[in-house]
Amino acid sequence: MKRSSHASCASCPFREPERICRAENGKAPKEGCSTVLYPELNAKACAEMENDAELMRFAKEASLQEAACYGVSPYDPSKRQPLKPRIMETIEFAQRMGYHRLGLAFCLALWSEAKALAEILESHGFEVVSVCCKVGRVDKSFMGLTDEEKIFPGMEPMCNPITQALILNEEKCDLNLMLGLCVGHDSLFLKYIEGPVTVVAVKDRLLGHAPLNALYSFYYKFLKK
Ligand code: SF4
Repeated sequence: MKRSSHASCASCPFREPERICRAENGKAPKEGCSTVLYPELNAKACAEMENDAELMRFAKEASLQEAACYGVSPYDPSKRQPLKPRIMETIEFAQRMGYHRLGLAFCLALWSEAKALAEILESHGFEVVSVCCKVGRVDKSFMGLTDEEKIFPGMEPMCNPITQALILNEEKCDLNLMLGLCVGHDSLFLKYIEGPVTVVAVKDRLLGHAPLNALYSFYYKFLKK
């Protein structure tokens, strides 16, 4: 079906409680409302869940875990406030699913974070299979990069997300965690990994691996063209 506009939820003009995706008689913008544009895909997604008990269980446990990450506010009992950092959310979700063996694909630059994370996960009884991005020591010249195109001239191992994924597939991990993979390398990892994946952190070399910081500060207005 040809559509007059594309999905544009990010520029929805209505307040959250008034929206059609939130309230039964809610409002939808004239153009770009994903709920209005794609009801058949929503039906397809729900059918996928209904026809696959394990998929439904996964989705249900994720939503139960989402709710378990909030508690009653000590300041206002009518409100909910967040209780848990993402690492604890990940641990509890894996426990709910009955997972035991966790894969950890990490970037060399976050070696100490990977070590600390693996220790925390192991302290909760998980078995951790970890693979660094430089696995295999394949020089960047393999992809046709010259010395001038490398960060440093000479032998420089490429990030190797496909091998990371293939090893974790071979190791039969229940859930795979991504820690600090670069833009593009993360895409390749996701293309080749089998089974469920969740992200612990993404790479942001400048902003302490918290890219959203660029959206919170006036100093990063140069990002907008
Ligand atoms: S689905 Fe429609 S109403 Fe909901 S956020 Fe997107 S554009 Fe707004």
